[in-house]
Amino acid sequence: MAHVVAVLDGKDLARDSMTCQMKYRTRRAETRRDRWMMGGRWHVDVLVIPASVKQAVPSLARAQAYLLPACSLSYLASALKSNIGMAQSAQPESVDERLKGRLNMPKPVPAFLPTVGSPLTVDKQAYDEIQQAPRVLVDEFTLPIRSGKAWEAPAGSIIRISTPDGPQVGDLNLWNRHNPRERFWASRTRQLHASHLGTYDRLWSSLPYMRPLATIVHDSLAWYGADQHGARVHDLLGTRCDPYIKAVLTSGAQYDFHCHSNLVRAVAEFGLAERDVHDVINLFQATGLDDEGRYFMNPCPAQRGDNIELLAEQDLLLALSAYFSPRASVARVVNVSLG
Ligand SMILES: [Zn+2]
Repeated sequence: MAHVVAVLDGKDLARDSMTCQMKYRTRRAETRRDRWMMGGRWHVDVLVIPASVKQAVPSLARAQAYLLPACSLSYLASALKSNIGMAQSAQPESVDERLKGRLNMPKPVPAFLPTVGSPLTVDKQAYDEIQQAPRVLVDEFTLPIRSGKAWEAPAGSIIRISTPDGPQVGDLNLWNRHNPRERFWASRTRQLHASHLGTYDRLWSSLPYMRPLATIVHDSLAWYGADQHGARVHDLLGTRCDPYIKAVLTSGAQYDFHCHSNLVRAVAEFGLAERDVHDVINLFQATGLDDEGRYFMNPCPAQRGDNIELLAEQDLLLALSAYFSPRASVARVVNVSLG
Protein backbone atom coordinates (compact mmCIF):
# COMPACT_ATOMS: atom_id res chain seq x y z
CA MET A 1 0.00 0.00 0.00
CA ALA A 2 1.18 3.46 -0.78
CA HIS A 3 2.29 5.48 2.16
CA VAL A 4 2.52 9.10 1.21
CA VAL A 5 3.72 11.96 3.31
CA ALA A 6 3.06 15.16 1.43
CA VAL A 7 4.76 18.40 2.31
CA LEU A 8 3.52 21.48 0.55
CA ASP A 9 6.25 23.78 -0.56
CA GLY A 10 7.97 23.51 2.79
CA LYS A 11 10.76 25.90 1.94
CA ASP A 12 8.49 28.79 1.15
CA LEU A 13 6.25 28.04 4.08
CA ALA A 14 9.21 28.04 6.41
CA ARG A 15 10.33 31.38 5.09
CA ASP A 16 6.88 32.90 5.30
CA SER A 17 6.40 31.54 8.75
CA MET A 18 9.60 33.17 9.91
CA THR A 19 8.43 36.46 8.47
CA CYS A 20 5.23 36.15 10.38
CA GLN A 21 7.01 35.25 13.55
CA MET A 22 9.08 38.39 13.35
CA LYS A 23 6.22 40.57 12.31
CA TYR A 24 3.87 39.43 15.02
CA ARG A 25 6.38 38.66 17.74
CA THR A 26 5.05 41.49 19.86
CA ARG A 27 1.47 40.30 19.61
CA ARG A 28 1.71 37.41 22.01
CA ALA A 29 -1.75 36.17 22.78
CA GLU A 30 -2.95 37.13 26.19
CA THR A 31 -6.65 36.61 26.05
CA ARG A 32 -8.72 33.49 26.10
CA ARG A 33 -10.43 34.65 22.93
CA ASP A 34 -7.18 34.18 21.06
CA ARG A 35 -7.29 30.46 21.65
CA TRP A 36 -9.47 29.89 18.63
CA MET A 37 -6.82 31.49 16.51
CA MET A 38 -4.27 28.90 17.52
CA GLY A 39 -2.83 26.99 14.64
CA GLY A 40 -1.64 23.47 14.28
CA ARG A 41 -1.13 20.95 11.57
CA TRP A 42 -3.81 18.70 10.18
CA HIS A 43 -3.27 15.04 9.82
CA VAL A 44 -5.32 13.13 7.28
CA ASP A 45 -5.63 9.38 6.79
CA VAL A 46 -7.56 7.78 3.96
CA LEU A 47 -8.53 4.24 4.84
CA VAL A 48 -10.35 1.53 2.95
CA ILE A 49 -12.88 -0.80 4.47
CA PRO A 50 -13.53 -4.41 3.44
CA ALA A 51 -15.79 -4.85 0.41
CA SER A 52 -18.18 -6.97 2.48
CA VAL A 53 -18.72 -4.09 4.87
CA LYS A 54 -18.98 -1.55 2.07
CA GLN A 55 -21.77 -3.51 0.42
CA ALA A 56 -23.78 -3.23 3.60
CA VAL A 57 -23.97 0.54 3.28
CA PRO A 58 -27.34 1.29 1.79
CA SER A 59 -26.53 4.80 0.60
CA LEU A 60 -23.58 3.73 -1.51
CA ALA A 61 -25.85 1.62 -3.66
CA ARG A 62 -28.71 4.06 -3.56
CA ALA A 63 -26.82 7.24 -4.33
CA GLN A 64 -28.26 7.59 -7.81
CA ALA A 65 -31.78 7.32 -6.45
CA TYR A 66 -31.52 10.75 -4.86
CA LEU A 67 -31.80 12.52 -8.19
CA LEU A 68 -35.05 14.41 -8.10
CA PRO A 69 -37.63 14.79 -10.86
CA ALA A 70 -37.92 18.21 -12.46
CA CYS A 71 -40.41 20.58 -10.85
CA SER A 72 -43.73 21.11 -12.56
CA LEU A 73 -43.67 24.66 -13.86
CA SER A 74 -47.46 24.71 -14.28
CA TYR A 75 -47.89 23.81 -10.60
CA LEU A 76 -45.51 26.59 -9.56
CA ALA A 77 -47.35 29.09 -11.78
CA SER A 78 -50.75 28.26 -10.29
CA ALA A 79 -49.39 28.40 -6.74
CA LEU A 80 -47.88 31.80 -7.42
CA LYS A 81 -51.14 33.08 -8.89
CA SER A 82 -53.18 32.00 -5.87
CA ASN A 83 -50.68 33.60 -3.50
CA ILE A 84 -50.94 36.89 -5.35
CA GLY A 85 -54.72 36.68 -5.20
CA MET A 86 -54.66 36.16 -1.42
CA ALA A 87 -52.27 39.06 -0.94
CA GLN A 88 -54.49 41.40 -2.92
CA SER A 89 -57.72 40.50 -1.14
CA ALA A 90 -56.45 40.74 2.45
CA GLN A 91 -56.41 44.07 4.30
CA PRO A 92 -52.94 44.92 5.57
CA GLU A 93 -52.71 44.52 9.33
CA SER A 94 -51.17 47.05 11.68
CA VAL A 95 -47.76 46.31 13.16
CA ASP A 96 -49.40 45.68 16.54
CA GLU A 97 -51.72 43.13 15.02
CA ARG A 98 -48.86 41.48 13.26
CA LEU A 99 -46.81 41.40 16.46
CA LYS A 100 -49.71 39.65 18.22
CA GLY A 101 -49.47 37.01 15.56
CA ARG A 102 -46.03 36.12 16.90
CA LEU A 103 -47.40 35.27 20.32
CA ASN A 104 -48.34 31.84 21.56
CA MET A 105 -46.87 30.04 18.62
CA PRO A 106 -46.26 26.36 19.23
CA LYS A 107 -42.70 25.16 19.52
CA PRO A 108 -41.44 24.87 15.96
CA VAL A 109 -40.84 21.52 14.40
CA PRO A 110 -37.70 21.15 12.26
CA ALA A 111 -38.49 21.45 8.59
CA PHE A 112 -36.53 18.33 7.74
CA LEU A 113 -36.70 15.36 10.05
CA PRO A 114 -35.22 11.96 9.35
CA THR A 115 -38.17 9.63 8.98
CA VAL A 116 -38.20 5.90 8.35
CA GLY A 117 -36.89 5.18 4.87
CA SER A 118 -35.76 8.77 4.31
CA PRO A 119 -32.29 9.36 2.84
CA LEU A 120 -31.75 11.53 5.93
CA THR A 121 -32.11 8.44 8.10
CA VAL A 122 -28.78 6.73 8.45
CA ASP A 123 -28.60 3.07 9.34
CA LYS A 124 -26.58 3.73 12.47
CA GLN A 125 -25.74 0.11 13.09
CA ALA A 126 -24.38 -0.33 9.57
CA TYR A 127 -22.33 2.84 9.83
CA ASP A 128 -21.04 1.85 13.26
CA GLU A 129 -19.88 -1.45 11.77
CA ILE A 130 -18.11 0.43 9.03
CA GLN A 131 -16.44 2.71 11.52
CA GLN A 132 -15.26 -0.22 13.61
CA ALA A 133 -14.21 -2.48 10.73
CA PRO A 134 -10.52 -3.27 10.13
CA ARG A 135 -8.78 -0.64 8.03
CA VAL A 136 -5.88 -0.42 5.65
CA LEU A 137 -4.02 2.82 5.29
CA VAL A 138 -3.93 3.96 1.66
CA ASP A 139 -2.83 7.55 1.96
CA GLU A 140 -1.54 9.80 4.68
CA PHE A 141 -0.21 13.29 4.92
CA THR A 142 0.34 16.01 7.42
CA LEU A 143 -0.76 19.46 6.41
CA PRO A 144 1.44 22.28 7.64
CA ILE A 145 -0.06 25.41 9.10
CA ARG A 146 -1.00 28.17 6.65
CA SER A 147 -1.38 25.82 3.73
CA GLY A 148 -3.96 23.80 1.87
CA LYS A 149 -3.96 20.45 0.18
CA ALA A 150 -6.29 18.60 -2.15
CA TRP A 151 -6.47 14.83 -2.35
CA GLU A 152 -8.62 12.01 -3.67
CA ALA A 153 -10.55 9.43 -1.70
CA PRO A 154 -12.39 6.54 -3.34
CA ALA A 155 -16.01 5.74 -2.52
CA GLY A 156 -16.18 3.55 0.54
CA SER A 157 -13.00 4.86 2.08
CA ILE A 158 -12.79 6.64 5.40
CA ILE A 159 -11.10 10.00 5.70
CA ARG A 160 -9.81 10.66 9.18
CA ILE A 161 -8.81 14.24 9.91
CA SER A 162 -7.03 14.78 13.19
CA THR A 163 -5.21 17.53 15.03
CA PRO A 164 -1.73 16.33 16.03
CA ASP A 165 -0.79 19.65 17.63
CA GLY A 166 -3.96 20.58 19.48
CA PRO A 167 -6.41 23.36 18.68
CA GLN A 168 -6.83 23.85 14.96
CA VAL A 169 -9.75 24.71 12.77
CA GLY A 170 -9.81 23.71 9.15
CA ASP A 171 -11.93 24.51 6.15
CA LEU A 172 -13.01 21.55 4.06
CA ASN A 173 -14.33 21.45 0.46
CA LEU A 174 -15.60 18.33 -1.31
CA TRP A 175 -16.35 17.49 -4.94
CA ASN A 176 -17.39 14.46 -6.93
CA ARG A 177 -13.99 13.34 -8.23
CA HIS A 178 -15.36 12.89 -11.76
CA ASN A 179 -17.48 16.02 -11.94
CA PRO A 180 -16.47 19.20 -10.10
CA ARG A 181 -19.89 20.72 -10.72
CA GLU A 182 -21.19 18.34 -8.10
CA ARG A 183 -19.80 19.83 -4.95
CA PHE A 184 -20.59 20.26 -1.29
CA TRP A 185 -23.67 22.38 -0.60
CA ALA A 186 -23.22 23.82 2.87
CA SER A 187 -26.50 25.70 3.16
CA ARG A 188 -28.70 22.78 2.09
CA THR A 189 -26.76 20.47 4.39
CA ARG A 190 -27.44 22.95 7.19
CA GLN A 191 -31.16 22.81 6.40
CA LEU A 192 -31.28 19.05 6.20
CA HIS A 193 -29.28 18.38 9.35
CA ALA A 194 -28.24 21.30 11.54
CA SER A 195 -26.07 24.39 11.82
CA HIS A 196 -23.26 22.18 13.09
CA LEU A 197 -22.65 18.62 12.03
CA GLY A 198 -21.92 15.48 13.99
CA THR A 199 -21.87 11.72 13.71
CA TYR A 200 -24.38 10.27 11.19
CA ASP A 201 -24.88 13.63 9.47
CA ARG A 202 -24.24 13.72 5.75
CA LEU A 203 -22.52 16.24 3.54
CA TRP A 204 -24.87 16.81 0.58
CA SER A 205 -24.03 17.88 -2.93
CA SER A 206 -25.31 20.77 -5.01
CA LEU A 207 -28.19 20.72 -7.48
CA PRO A 208 -29.13 18.98 -9.64
CA TYR A 209 -27.32 16.12 -7.93
CA MET A 210 -28.45 16.34 -4.30
CA ARG A 211 -26.64 13.26 -3.10
CA PRO A 212 -24.54 12.47 -0.06
CA LEU A 213 -20.89 13.10 -0.76
CA ALA A 214 -19.84 11.82 2.65
CA THR A 215 -21.26 10.76 5.99
CA ILE A 216 -19.66 11.52 9.34
CA VAL A 217 -19.01 8.23 11.13
CA HIS A 218 -17.00 9.43 14.11
CA ASP A 219 -16.45 12.69 15.98
CA SER A 220 -14.22 12.84 19.03
CA LEU A 221 -15.74 16.22 19.96
CA ALA A 222 -19.29 14.88 20.15
CA TRP A 223 -19.21 15.55 23.88
CA TYR A 224 -18.98 19.33 23.32
CA GLY A 225 -22.65 19.71 22.48
CA ALA A 226 -23.71 23.31 22.98
CA ASP A 227 -21.62 25.46 25.31
CA GLN A 228 -22.96 28.13 27.66
CA HIS A 229 -23.22 30.60 24.77
CA GLY A 230 -24.87 28.13 22.44
CA ALA A 231 -21.77 27.51 20.34
CA ARG A 232 -21.30 24.10 18.75
CA VAL A 233 -18.47 22.57 16.72
CA HIS A 234 -18.07 21.66 13.03
CA ASP A 235 -19.59 24.87 11.81
CA LEU A 236 -21.86 25.35 8.81
CA LEU A 237 -22.94 28.87 9.79
CA GLY A 238 -19.86 30.64 8.56
CA THR A 239 -17.60 30.12 5.63
CA ARG A 240 -13.93 30.33 4.74
CA CYS A 241 -11.86 33.39 5.51
CA ASP A 242 -10.72 35.17 2.36
CA PRO A 243 -8.46 38.03 1.33
CA TYR A 244 -11.29 39.99 -0.29
CA ILE A 245 -13.30 40.63 2.86
CA LYS A 246 -10.07 41.27 4.70
CA ALA A 247 -9.24 44.02 2.23
CA VAL A 248 -12.73 45.47 2.63
CA LEU A 249 -12.60 45.52 6.41
CA THR A 250 -8.97 46.54 6.80
CA SER A 251 -8.08 48.70 3.85
CA GLY A 252 -4.80 47.87 2.28
CA ALA A 253 -4.32 44.60 4.17
CA GLN A 254 -1.87 42.34 2.39
CA TYR A 255 -2.14 38.77 3.53
CA ASP A 256 -2.78 35.82 1.31
CA PHE A 257 -2.85 32.72 3.47
CA HIS A 258 -6.55 32.78 4.15
CA CYS A 259 -8.40 29.49 3.83
CA HIS A 260 -9.90 30.60 0.52
CA SER A 261 -6.44 31.29 -0.90
CA ASN A 262 -5.06 28.04 0.50
CA LEU A 263 -7.91 26.08 -1.08
CA VAL A 264 -7.53 27.82 -4.45
CA ARG A 265 -3.83 26.95 -4.57
CA ALA A 266 -4.54 23.40 -3.41
CA VAL A 267 -7.05 22.52 -6.13
CA ALA A 268 -4.92 23.86 -8.98
CA GLU A 269 -3.08 20.56 -9.36
CA PHE A 270 -6.43 18.88 -10.07
CA GLY A 271 -7.32 21.37 -12.78
CA LEU A 272 -9.76 23.35 -10.66
CA ALA A 273 -9.77 27.11 -10.20
CA GLU A 274 -10.92 29.77 -7.77
CA ARG A 275 -14.52 29.52 -8.98
CA ASP A 276 -14.59 25.88 -7.87
CA VAL A 277 -13.86 26.71 -4.24
CA HIS A 278 -17.10 26.88 -2.32
CA ASP A 279 -18.61 27.32 1.12
CA VAL A 280 -16.91 25.04 3.57
CA ILE A 281 -17.55 23.04 6.66
CA ASN A 282 -15.37 24.57 9.36
CA LEU A 283 -14.06 21.50 11.12
CA PHE A 284 -13.52 21.85 14.88
CA GLN A 285 -14.62 25.48 14.74
CA ALA A 286 -16.94 26.35 17.66
CA THR A 287 -19.44 28.96 16.52
CA GLY A 288 -22.89 30.24 17.19
CA LEU A 289 -25.25 33.17 16.80
CA ASP A 290 -25.63 35.65 19.64
CA ASP A 291 -28.90 37.10 20.95
CA GLU A 292 -29.07 39.38 17.94
CA GLY A 293 -28.30 36.67 15.42
CA ARG A 294 -24.69 37.73 14.93
CA TYR A 295 -22.07 35.14 14.14
CA PHE A 296 -19.40 34.50 16.76
CA MET A 297 -16.54 32.09 17.30
CA ASN A 298 -15.52 30.52 20.58
CA PRO A 299 -12.18 28.89 21.37
CA CYS A 300 -11.51 25.71 19.44
CA PRO A 301 -11.93 22.84 21.94
CA ALA A 302 -9.80 20.38 19.96
CA GLN A 303 -6.79 18.91 21.67
CA ARG A 304 -3.97 16.79 20.39
CA GLY A 305 -5.39 13.72 18.66
CA ASP A 306 -8.96 14.88 18.31
CA ASN A 307 -10.41 13.69 15.05
CA ILE A 308 -13.39 13.40 12.80
CA GLU A 309 -14.03 10.57 10.33
CA LEU A 310 -15.96 10.78 7.08
CA LEU A 311 -17.12 7.88 4.95
CA ALA A 312 -16.78 8.75 1.26
CA GLU A 313 -20.15 7.99 -0.32
CA GLN A 314 -18.77 8.75 -3.79
CA ASP A 315 -15.34 9.00 -5.36
CA LEU A 316 -14.24 12.30 -3.86
CA LEU A 317 -11.83 15.12 -4.34
CA LEU A 318 -11.32 16.96 -1.07
CA ALA A 319 -9.38 20.05 -0.12
CA LEU A 320 -8.48 21.17 3.38
CA SER A 321 -6.96 24.39 4.65
CA ALA A 322 -5.02 24.60 7.89
CA TYR A 323 -6.08 27.90 9.30
CA PHE A 324 -3.72 30.57 10.44
CA SER A 325 -4.40 34.10 11.57
CA PRO A 326 -1.80 36.84 11.34
CA ARG A 327 -3.00 37.81 14.79
CA ALA A 328 -1.91 34.49 16.27
CA SER A 329 0.94 34.62 18.72
CA VAL A 330 4.49 33.68 17.83
CA ALA A 331 4.39 30.93 20.43
CA ARG A 332 1.72 29.21 18.46
CA VAL A 333 3.63 29.44 15.24
CA VAL A 334 6.89 27.97 16.45
CA ASN A 335 5.12 24.90 17.76
CA VAL A 336 4.18 23.91 14.25
CA SER A 337 6.21 21.51 12.22
CA LEU A 338 6.63 22.52 8.62
CA GLY A 339 7.27 19.00 7.48
ZN1 LIG B 1 -9.88 30.37 7.51
